[in-house]
Amino acid sequence: MKPRTKLQKQVAEQSKRLAPITQRQKDWAFQNCFDLQARRLKSGKLTCLECGHSWKGGHVLAESICGCTCPNCGTELKVINSQKQTFKYAEYFGIITVCGGFQVLRYFFLEKHCQVGNPARLFCREVVQHWITPSGKCEIMARSRNMSIFYYDVWNWSSELEIRREHHAHHISPVAVYPHKRYISEVKRNGFMGNFHQLSPRTLFCNILSDSRMETLLKAEQYDLLRHFSVRRSQSLEDYWASIKICIRNKYTVTDASLWCDYLDLLRFFGKDVLNAKLVCPIDLKAEHDRWMKKKTAWQERQKREEERKRLLKNEQAYQKLKAKFIGLEFSEGSLYIRVLKDVNEFYEEGNALKHCVFTNEYFLKPDTLVFTAQINGKRIETVEVSLETLKVIQSRGVCNENTEYHEQIIDLVNRDAHLIRKRMTA
Ligand SMILES: [Zn+2]
Repeated sequence: MKPRTKLQKQVAEQSKRLAPITQRQKDWAFQNCFDLQARRLKSGKLTCLECGHSWKGGHVLAESICGCTCPNCGTELKVINSQKQTFKYAEYFGIITVCGGFQVLRYFFLEKHCQVGNPARLFCREVVQHWITPSGKCEIMARSRNMSIFYYDVWNWSSELEIRREHHAHHISPVAVYPHKRYISEVKRNGFMGNFHQLSPRTLFCNILSDSRMETLLKAEQYDLLRHFSVRRSQSLEDYWASIKICIRNKYTVTDASLWCDYLDLLRFFGKDVLNAKLVCPIDLKAEHDRWMKKKTAWQERQKREEERKRLLKNEQAYQKLKAKFIGLEFSEGSLYIRVLKDVNEFYEEGNALKHCVFTNEYFLKPDTLVFTAQINGKRIETVEVSLETLKVIQSRGVCNENTEYHEQIIDLVNRDAHLIRKRMTA
């Protein structure tokens, strides 16, 4: 991509002045990014994958644990058991340096090809550079990438390092970083003392250079908050900043930022003062978090119950409106006693006692049927549904929808006394 903005032009220009990686840096990289290995065959024959020399091995167990030394090149080697002839490895390596007032992060793609009988072949090619300005802006210089379904970092070796639109392939986590590092004075001024606190150099530098609050978090040693708000950009630091300042002023270190933010959300939910140091800096965060969490859960449950109560009440009103004139209607014969269910709650009790769906399927809202309970000595036996059109029994069901020995008697009694229903209809 052609550099377009002033900054891009500046970066493209400065990158020409960047010194190529030195032999010493390359040697260090290959020593520290890869294992140095000897291959052992079942016969015990060892081959140094560094220089290609082969020799007869010694004690198998000792070699497996302690490794061996190549008698030819003197390298300390880790022993691997394999029949393979060739071994290919690839890793990323990083260099942190400065150039023209920029903080520069350089990433190299290292490849190591080992073939039995030959010295290892090493390739080191620079693939990505992050150029960070003292105000925390970042431009990317990178090679282009080939299309691949499986890998996003298939670099196109015929391309040059150029200004590129940022892609996640440019966010590289190198297996090793060269120990001699150089920093622009601004990152040191903003609190950086050599520790990245588990963030990528890019993230940490850009954040502390571009956001004074991040700088404050670093200087105040609020590392977990720094990490939390660096990684979770969706959660706004602004929403918590006033409370964080109180923590800092009270020398209260937040060790579990996501729990603390949750806790603050809970305080806010209950309308508590999130500027009160006593609340904002709890001695036992976990206990306080859990206490408020419990309160919220209880509140939610109350809320749910309240909604349920309202819904029931609405149903009750509907039921009464539809069936008020039938309530109190009852038929009996001997110990058998049948009457209209008097309210919605009784549908619930009936459904529970007989384990059927008279309540859950909201029979109380059906406008054209009437539901009775048939009881013997106060015990619910069957539930009867009668059509208000034909005044005939539609269904009568006992526990789990089974018929009881009173089934026929119940239906007979209801059908016989159906004229009493009609009477109420016309009343
Ligand atoms: Zn060797």
